[in-house]
Amino acid sequence: MHWLERWLLPPKCVLTHQPCEDRDIDAKLVGEWPIPTSVCPQCCEPSFDAKVCGRCLADAPAFDRTQVGFYFDAELADLIHGLKYNSQPAYARILGELLAQRLDAKNIQAMVAVPLHQSRYRQRGFNQAELVAKTVAKELGIPLIKQAVKRVKNTPSQTHLNAKQRRANLKNAFDIDCEKLQGLESIALLDDVITTGATMQSLAQKIKRQTSVETIQAWAVAKTK
Ligand SMILES: [Zn+2]
Repeated sequence: MHWLERWLLPPKCVLTHQPCEDRDIDAKLVGEWPIPTSVCPQCCEPSFDAKVCGRCLADAPAFDRTQVGFYFDAELADLIHGLKYNSQPAYARILGELLAQRLDAKNIQAMVAVPLHQSRYRQRGFNQAELVAKTVAKELGIPLIKQAVKRVKNTPSQTHLNAKQRRANLKNAFDIDCEKLQGLESIALLDDVITTGATMQSLAQKIKRQTSVETIQAWAVAKTK
């Protein structure tokens, strides 16, 4: 931030409204957010000694590694809900910066944001995952490929569905523009929140089937416990 801008408008935490050092969020507050430790590197579910879990060994998901910033908790929920439902796109930058700090982006050639269906996009006016991805891409210096994937099925809210219902719900939900991903071998898909991983699974499966991409990471600001 420019010193003059800083002097005129000292940064305030968007959650506590107290002055803070930078990034518009209180670092101490962020330091208290729970982060996944001792989880399976592939699916991010709890796992002994942070080894690949039994479920992934038995039936490996289409994504090869999952990295999330935090567990989905109260204050983070305020930020993500504020971004999605109260049209606070500025929160996307904060979330993107926080996530970028926690990611290991080695060998990732490009990023793709999990898309919204067109009707939801029109309603909201933006795709929150893409806004977060923009900041992450900038922070990490990785290209963000737009319009590589399209959500062609307007899946109803998945909040009250179990894992099996979510998978059925997401069948044939995405279309891939293979040209946009041509020549790529290793990419990351970015969403705001991962719950069961069904969305990532559906999208990653389709990309691997139809393109040259061999390695896919699932990235999200948060994961539900
Ligand atoms: Zn696993």
